[in-house]
Amino acid sequence: MSTQTQAPQQVDVRELMGHTHVEPKRAERKLSIWEKMYLPEIFKGLVNTFKHMFKPSVTIDYIGPNSRPDQRHIPAVGYRGEHFLKVDEKDNIKCVACFMCSTACPAECITIVGEEAPADQFGAQRFKKPRVFEIDMLKCIYCGMCVEACPKDAIAMTTTYNQVHTKRSDAIFDLPHLLKNNDEFMKSLGLSRAGKDTAGKFPLSPDGFGPDKTHGLQDYRVGERQPGA
Ligand code: SF4
Ligand code: SF4
Repeated sequence: MSTQTQAPQQVDVRELMGHTHVEPKRAERKLSIWEKMYLPEIFKGLVNTFKHMFKPSVTIDYIGPNSRPDQRHIPAVGYRGEHFLKVDEKDNIKCVACFMCSTACPAECITIVGEEAPADQFGAQRFKKPRVFEIDMLKCIYCGMCVEACPKDAIAMTTTYNQVHTKRSDAIFDLPHLLKNNDEFMKSLGLSRAGKDTAGKFPLSPDGFGPDKTHGLQDYRVGERQPGA
């Protein structure tokens, strides 16, 4: 018995389906000497560019200091921007590295590595804290599921939306970055690092340490909704 296998026969699917028409080959157009030099085309392109330089701009400055108020983008209440990780009044990170947020994240963009929390700093009731906490903002879809899932009111979202990165690695927000976001966001709202106001209340976390039911912005209108938005 022969063990040789035969090469599969080539089948023209178009022929099987009755499409026997073959496209005729088109003759290639010959380029003129000027077209081969590209110079007239470059000149035409430059003329077009200069013509548009003196026309009014069609783009909108939505964020700059000279932007028109009616064109400025102002985040509405509950806007989901960049994340931040909260700290408590003892300046300890609130995250207990429970992985609830990373489990809930549909984009699988949260990476957490937990470690033991020192009892002298965090107290005897606290066992874990994150050693690594990273969010890949290029994968994040800003759905807020991580905030919903957190049992410790440890993660929330700022209203910062203007993300510009020159390297992919800059879009991976690590622990220091997420804590810096906390500091900047709290400061912008006139709150302490732990989210405390001058009356000693925690407006972003109604009970101080429990789940953040307001997503942080119910009492704090950081801006008016844009007309028509
Ligand atoms: S906002 Fe959504 S996609 Fe982004 S990190 Fe949170 S759960 Fe993941
Ligand atoms: S942010 Fe919240 S849900 Fe995520 S690991 Fe920390 S405590 Fe758990």
